[in-house]
Amino acid sequence: MTERLSDNRFSEILEHYKIITEKIENAKIKAGRNDPVRLMGVTKTVDPGYVNYSVKLGVGLLGENRVQEFLDKRDKYEGNPEIHFIGALQSNKVKYIIDKVSMIHSVDGIKLAQEIDKRARNKGIVMDALIEVNIGGEESKSGINPDMLDGFIYEVAELGAIRIRGLMTIPPPDIDGSVVKHFEKMQRLFEDYKAKTSDDGRFLFDTLSMGMSGDYERAIEFGSNIVRVGSLLYGYRKY
Ligand SMILES: *Cc1c(COP(=O)(O)O)cnc(C)c1O
Repeated sequence: MTERLSDNRFSEILEHYKIITEKIENAKIKAGRNDPVRLMGVTKTVDPGYVNYSVKLGVGLLGENRVQEFLDKRDKYEGNPEIHFIGALQSNKVKYIIDKVSMIHSVDGIKLAQEIDKRARNKGIVMDALIEVNIGGEESKSGINPDMLDGFIYEVAELGAIRIRGLMTIPPPDIDGSVVKHFEKMQRLFEDYKAKTSDDGRFLFDTLSMGMSGDYERAIEFGSNIVRVGSLLYGYRKY
């Protein structure tokens, strides 16, 4: 966070922003969509100076992965962006972010959901949340398996101070073109639950968060309405 900001990188961000927003529009047209698709800037490792520039360009939504990094950076953010938490979240860290983000995309277990509910209740708020789906059924990955989704969703809905807004996924690496199949499956799940919960006041099922730098255009074809873009927008990222 002490790096010197480079003019070159600012102009790259401007260039990337223009390209990405244009591609989002084209993907929407291709899919025959005219509902909103939001571009989220994923800020991990990115200096707040660059993040602020992206906000000035029009990125109104930021995605944060790491609690400590977010807490260190948030005071430097300008332009009042909306902030969602998208990274793996340990229950014991919920208290640090509960009143600092407006949505949590990574709800992947009942213990975490209960902790979010408890902390939100203490603050007198209802926290919006997405259920992270392990759409590829990968053993190494977090997220709820599709066959467990039904039970899980209704268990969370009982809690009261956490409101399910939809689904999020990080599909398996696309080495064989299989990402389309996973996106298709996510779209089906999303549409099913949207229909199923439309008369249920505990839900406001309107958000499908999928698509990253390498696949956001395809995700839009399958109904995503938040694409989470990091490296393609901000440039090279050191992990
Ligand atoms: C890092 C990250 C992204 C963005 O990844 P890029 O490939 O850099 O666009 C999106 N979602 C989550 C959950 C991430 O951790």
